[in-house]
Amino acid sequence: STRDGRPFRLAVIGSGPAGFYTAYRAMTRIQNARVDMYEALPVPYGLVRFGVAPDHPEVKNCQEKFEEVASSPNFTFIGNVSIGTKSDHPDGGTIPLASILRHYHAVVFSYGAAKDRTLGIPGEHVKGVYSARQFVGWYNGLPEHANLAPDLTRGDEAVIIGQGNVALDVARMLLEDVDVLRKSDIAEHAIETLSKSKVRRVHIVGRRGPMQAAFTIKEIRELLRLPSVAFHPIDTSLVPQDIKSLPRAPRRLMDILLQDSPTPPTHCSPPTQTKQQKSWSLDFLLSPTAFLPSPADPARLAATKFTRTTLSDPFDPAAYALPTTDADPHTIPSALAFRSVGYQSTPLPEFAPLGIPFSDRHGVISNDGRGRVQHEERAADASMRIGRFPGLYCAGWVKRGPTGVIASTMQDAFSTADAMAEDWADGRVAFLNDKGRDVGGWDGVKGEGMSGVRVVDWEGWRRIDRAERERGARVGKEREKFTRTGDMLAVLG
Ligand code: FAD
Repeated sequence: STRDGRPFRLAVIGSGPAGFYTAYRAMTRIQNARVDMYEALPVPYGLVRFGVAPDHPEVKNCQEKFEEVASSPNFTFIGNVSIGTKSDHPDGGTIPLASILRHYHAVVFSYGAAKDRTLGIPGEHVKGVYSARQFVGWYNGLPEHANLAPDLTRGDEAVIIGQGNVALDVARMLLEDVDVLRKSDIAEHAIETLSKSKVRRVHIVGRRGPMQAAFTIKEIRELLRLPSVAFHPIDTSLVPQDIKSLPRAPRRLMDILLQDSPTPPTHCSPPTQTKQQKSWSLDFLLSPTAFLPSPADPARLAATKFTRTTLSDPFDPAAYALPTTDADPHTIPSALAFRSVGYQSTPLPEFAPLGIPFSDRHGVISNDGRGRVQHEERAADASMRIGRFPGLYCAGWVKRGPTGVIASTMQDAFSTADAMAEDWADGRVAFLNDKGRDVGGWDGVKGEGMSGVRVVDWEGWRRIDRAERERGARVGKEREKFTRTGDMLAVLG
């Protein structure tokens, strides 16, 4: 159904995988769909550019698909424009969400998770404690964190709190040979800092055990295979005796960990290594309680303090960690700690005044599971009332929460686009501005006044892309990213 042949005007907020895959699917499922994609940065692709580790170039192949989507005449990229919230870089423009809502039939929120979760323990803000998000953004050239300048020279130990794949990325960046990283599209400033790093020993610390860890096999194997980097054996008592009876994925993971962890359990013993050699460990059953400042310089980290935990059932993947009551805190002295306990989505500031529902508890836009924004309200008679928001959809991390790889984000985006296509085809489901006139899309938004905003269109991004590749070619890498928005815009004259 084309609803009288009128174009279906869709605004997509955010140009990460969720935005691109929703746009792609909407354009194939809805006749005469016109998609305008708004992106706060001058450059597209979200965490594919600013999250995925530089030594994982193959993961970025999805960009080819996104380029194909962007080459459609029905697609418009509107970069360097933040929707509903002040741009976090000085060169960017802002458009109120209310203005977007006036000029489209539907809006897909796919703006990801731009904050990080905190631990809420003392000392979280002393110098030397970084969030994984900041550090990842910094080595990937995210303008927001280009000035992070992490100090990797104050000692030879680093603590990473959290045992997901992002934690392993951070560990790999600290342990990997700088000359290998140099050939990737890692930011130049990161290479400079990493080549001066004194970090030799990395602790990847989790509250639970190996059976509950969030990391996956491929990423663990990659760390284990780093040349001349030693692995400290794990506490094998946390692995079931009979691993053969485990399902395939945990069985393989336990196998890999045990291969490198001789019995009897020797979790305190050093691996065979030379003094200068780098090494890492998975430290289980430790819950952080404080970042301890240095007595000599109270603004600076000296150690991280943990309480030991026990598991409700060490071999149950869903087991929870309980703090032990014994007064036996565990302290890891180090001037450098990263908390890698998850990213977090936040509502756009206009959500509250417009009544658009956001679940603070789950950190997602409230939706029906297929991305239709909806509000659940307990009525006086205790029944749940569902309030729909015509034309509003969400996809990706802001819909499901900040977990999942690009492939799962794609599936999720497809389910949102399919729900939207069904609704549009249905004819009875209400959309925004559904009164028969053409709502204008980007032209309508522009018409409301955009003075002083430098919009980057797709051709503009391609020029920035070419300039980055040329800079890279000069130093033997695929791309040398611009890490300042001013430098990106300078390419466009
Ligand atoms: P994002 O990719 O975050 O995209 C959101 C976009 O919205 C951003 O471009 C942002 O600038 C923009 N935006 C935000 N607010 C606004 C606004 N108000 N107006 C306009 N635009 C806005 N997956 C893999 O498959 N393999 C990996 O190796 C891998 N490594 C990862 C490493 C790290 C450190 C992280 C954090 C994730 C990794 N992932 C990996 C997961 C993958 O990156 C995510 O699944 C995916 O990027 C989520 O897509 P998204 O579109 O929901 O969010």
